[in-house]
Amino acid sequence: MAGYDIITLEENCTGCLRCQLACSYLYTGLFNPSAARIQVRFSGTGCAIDFTDECNHCGVCADSCFYDALKKVKREDDE
Ligand code: SF4
Ligand code: SF4
Repeated sequence: MAGYDIITLEENCTGCLRCQLACSYLYTGLFNPSAARIQVRFSGTGCAIDFTDECNHCGVCADSCFYDALKKVKREDDE
């Protein structure tokens, strides 16, 4: 199974939520950001990016980010 570590560069995050929309649509068939396995939260100074335990490291969220806030790195043990 494909697997990537997703590196977050929160300073680049605009809060557009494309990553959450992509993840939720892929795994639920709905554009529902709250159902995504990646969660972006706004704070007073910027965005905080976290992943739920259900994240399977597919990398689709990183492919969907236009702002270089998510970078995928192939896992060493992936075949
Ligand atoms: S990580 Fe990228 S796609 Fe997700 S909210 Fe931030 S800028 Fe948008
Ligand atoms: S790596 Fe895949 S499962 Fe994990 S948050 Fe991103 S799109 Fe969702």
